[in-house]
Amino acid sequence: MSVQQDAPGDNDTQDLEVWIDQDLCTGDGICVQYAPEVFELDIDGLAYVKSDEDELLQDKGATTPVPLPLLQDVVDSAKECPGDCIHVRRVSDNVEVYGPDAQ
Ligand code: SF4
Repeated sequence: MSVQQDAPGDNDTQDLEVWIDQDLCTGDGICVQYAPEVFELDIDGLAYVKSDEDELLQDKGATTPVPLPLLQDVVDSAKECPGDCIHVRRVSDNVEVYGPDAQ
């Protein structure tokens, strides 16, 4: 008897993460309206991603995981972002799946 099963755990190839290129952010806050759990405007007027613990991640290129229930909101943010600066990529191979550099 054999059961085909991936290794248990969180090594799901569908795991996604998101980052913002602040150099292009216009500060309009559309992403924050779509997904306030993931994005936040700082006092510098630019948007940043937040950690699981709600902490603003201000390092250049900082990423945060995209929770599955929020995926659509994050994707919509990337589509609507006037700065074209929200990048969603696969954790497993760093390939951008939504955003300006997606295929
Ligand atoms: S939607 Fe894009 S341009 Fe607007 S605040 Fe968010 S990251 Fe910046």
